[in-house]
Amino acid sequence: MITNIVEFFKNLPAKQCASCGSHIEEQHDCYSNTCTTCASKDL
Ligand SMILES: [Zn+2]
Repeated sequence: MITNIVEFFKNLPAKQCASCGSHIEEQHDCYSNTCTTCASKDL
């Protein structure tokens, strides 16, 4: 089962920032579509 979970995440498309298009690292409690850099600009 663990292998299946790993494969599931491998098949997920990489999240990209909706603003600058850079890859977004997995972040806990963060479901925004922008990277931390663009998110901080919005403040
Ligand atoms: Zn960005």
